[in-house]
Amino acid sequence: MSSRYHYRHRRTRPPFRHLVRAAKLLLAVLLAACQHDLGAPLEVSSPASLAIPTQKPEVPTQHMIAAAHPLAAEVGRDILRRGGGALDAAIAAQMVLSLVEPQSSGIGGGAFLLHYAAKTGAIDSYDGRETAPASALPNMFLKPDGKPRKFFDAVVGGLSVGVPGVIRMLEMAHREHGRMTWWELFQPAIQLAEKGFAMSERLATLVKRDKYLNFNAAGRYFFRDDGKPKTAGTVFSNPALADTLRRIAASGSEAFYEGVIAEAIVETVSRAPINSGGMTLADLAAYRAEKRPPVCLPYRQWLICGMGPPSSGGITTLQILGLVQRFDLAQLGTNTAKSVHIVAEASRLAFADRNVYIADPDFIPVPVGGLLDQGYLALRSAEISPFKAGGRRAPGMPGVGAVRFVPDSSEKGYSTTHLSVIDAEGNAVSMTSSIETAFGSRLMVRGFLLNNQLTDFSFLPVRDGAPVANRAEPGKRPRSSMSPTLVFDGGGRVIMAVGSPGGSRIIGYVAKTLIAALDWGMDMDAAIDAPNFVNRNGATELEKGTELEALKPALEAMGHEVNLLTRGSGLHGIRVTAEGFDGGADRRREGVAIGD
Ligand code: GLU
Repeated sequence: MSSRYHYRHRRTRPPFRHLVRAAKLLLAVLLAACQHDLGAPLEVSSPASLAIPTQKPEVPTQHMIAAAHPLAAEVGRDILRRGGGALDAAIAAQMVLSLVEPQSSGIGGGAFLLHYAAKTGAIDSYDGRETAPASALPNMFLKPDGKPRKFFDAVVGGLSVGVPGVIRMLEMAHREHGRMTWWELFQPAIQLAEKGFAMSERLATLVKRDKYLNFNAAGRYFFRDDGKPKTAGTVFSNPALADTLRRIAASGSEAFYEGVIAEAIVETVSRAPINSGGMTLADLAAYRAEKRPPVCLPYRQWLICGMGPPSSGGITTLQILGLVQRFDLAQLGTNTAKSVHIVAEASRLAFADRNVYIADPDFIPVPVGGLLDQGYLALRSAEISPFKAGGRRAPGMPGVGAVRFVPDSSEKGYSTTHLSVIDAEGNAVSMTSSIETAFGSRLMVRGFLLNNQLTDFSFLPVRDGAPVANRAEPGKRPRSSMSPTLVFDGGGRVIMAVGSPGGSRIIGYVAKTLIAALDWGMDMDAAIDAPNFVNRNGATELEKGTELEALKPALEAMGHEVNLLTRGSGLHGIRVTAEGFDGGADRRREGVAIGD
């Protein structure tokens, strides 16, 4: 087996690497200096500005992993080299991400994972979404005057923390698909946590601009003794996380959901200096990961599968594709006003349904079959004019007896991570993992951050006298937009694994990447780096600083309200080609795709 690196990305271009890095650093410093708003863009480069010639490396043929941090990808690849399967690599890489990309995901958060088993052809989807504690109330995010709180007033502290799901979910998937021992998979992260790692540029930038992080344990961890934020390149260890991971490695998920770790979580949540929360030991002990039916839809000659509810990601991405299916997007052209218009119109319709019908299926009867019914999609698609924007769309009626709920607001999100793995046998994992906003609730326990996922619930429990589907309730999972995706060819072979962070825009980022790869014939890197465009049943957003900006007048002439999109994706994907694996890591983040 070759020991060569196969970075299918900017890291395959050594002569330019330092230039690009220097330019990114300079931009990062400039941005950090002039931005104080957490909603402002972090992205330090645009794909267009980094258009540099590609030097094609040897194509990996054995296995591949694409993840948001080189150390996580390297650990995952090492597991694959040692004979581990795709699921083993994903677990080991996720543990490393908890350490090196703590702003995005970790054992204090939740995840959704799609697994394809090559031998049996089984597609399993695992739900490790956080649950609301028994004390949660529908009005938990309302002010005393009955109005919803400002988003960040609710994020920081204990109230927003859902019972973490990552560990139970990975343990469940490992029982079914793991090849190496659970214990082994934790060792690389434990060693790194003890030895230390260098802080990445993105992590340093996020620490610096965060208004809420410098207190308690997180403050002590991310800031220096003189109160200044640690800077990029600072090497530091996390002995508390090493200890936590060692316990979970030795005793399984019980070590997390019961005993000293569970006690520390409850204590931290209930004693949070602001917004103390009501999570109890019983809430933690009761947490269950769930296996859910994956959602799949044929798209042209392919079959595309995603995560069902409580994520809205799979259904909405598939609806967008189902609605554009009757248009020849290849002929309408790559990144043209005509193509962007069609996809944006489809996205409006899909988001109109998403906002009304999708929430936790254990609480709400989600009409999954109706939403993905070909006849229904054909009727909805007939509403799309190739020439004129349709404005804000009303939800459809997906099937007899579907229960309608009033729409809720779209959540925001600035962290989250996606990783894709395909092993030598053709097993595949597509996993999106999150603690919601960057640094989650900002509460740190035993070396890891706790999520703020409960703010993905609608803050308003009732609107116009009707209950909101995605309102908070005890034991309920907040609706997500995470969209881990697998694509299959006509022979049932997996040909792509992809996903992204980005809050509800994830759906648009993933749909664009699928269209770029499948309709526009781009390779994985190009499809990922292709400029993003999103419509969440409002303005059409075009990625700032890219060639899409030039489409603004044409789209406006068709009736679109056009905004420039400053937030970025973090897509990580793998395509299977006749030559081997074609991996892609989003230039907007720090990841790599590597294989042998
Ligand atoms: N919490 C969001 C969701 O589950 C993801 C946040 C993000 O992507 O930053 O949809």
